[in-house]
Amino acid sequence: MSFDAVIDVRNVSKRFGGLTAVNNCSLSVQRGSITGLIGPNGAGKSTLFNIVAGNIVPDSGQVLFDGQDVTGLAPHQLFRQGMLRTFQIAHEFSNMTALENLMMVPGDQPGESLVDSWLRPRLVKARETEVRKKALDVIDFLKLGHVRNELAGNLSGGQKKLLELGRTMMVDAKVVLLDEVAAGVNKTLLHDLAANIERMNKELGYTFFVIEHDMDLIGRLCDPVIVMAQGEKIAEGPMSEIRANAAIVEAYFGS
Ligand code: ADP
Ligand code: MG
Repeated sequence: MSFDAVIDVRNVSKRFGGLTAVNNCSLSVQRGSITGLIGPNGAGKSTLFNIVAGNIVPDSGQVLFDGQDVTGLAPHQLFRQGMLRTFQIAHEFSNMTALENLMMVPGDQPGESLVDSWLRPRLVKARETEVRKKALDVIDFLKLGHVRNELAGNLSGGQKKLLELGRTMMVDAKVVLLDEVAAGVNKTLLHDLAANIERMNKELGYTFFVIEHDMDLIGRLCDPVIVMAQGEKIAEGPMSEIRANAAIVEAYFGS
């Protein structure tokens, strides 16, 4: 659609048996934005996210990422190109410290296989120092310094969410997809999380695409907000405009 769309979804459809989950849907996420995606249960939000992230291949339509057609690419290929999605800290990482968790993020090491094996130990060492420094920067940015040597499994729900966010900062992301990142986080920590998403956006230039049920969080963070219903985009604009649209509010959110 637009010139500076990081993600451009074009006429995408996905059916599950007889059910059309996403119906000829087009939308885009502009570089530098925090774009929200809302809509009632069953609207097709998660299916659309899974299509964008490469977890589901659409029946028709295209997904452009940074101007390139990436329809049908696998999640790890998209990851390498800078499309990141947060994931819950996996069980096996809960016995590692917060700092170690950040250092586990796979990096791209182009050409490493070409390096003579006798050189490799030194390179790996250099890389480890560099990765550690980056992880400490991320910890600092997220103000998690006081828990950096705590086991991830012992962190609070909100701290774990911050750590998940931190992992996206360990690699060069062009866009970060957040799927209900606020679920199960209490109000105080939610404020922290939102503030950090805002700082990543404003200070570091990250672009976010966010599915969220918490309307206050969406209203605070996102512009624009895209409304989906029955597999289609039905509205897009600032949250104040969406809230002021009586037809949308009544039909999809109950007045
Ligand atoms: P939302 O995230 O907006 O709640 P979803 O994308 O999860 O919506 O679901 C859209 C529709 O597609 C729903 O009717 C849902 O039941 C259906 N659906 C989603 N995933 C599958 C699947 N893997 N198999 C069958 N139906 C699915
Ligand atoms: Mg969903």
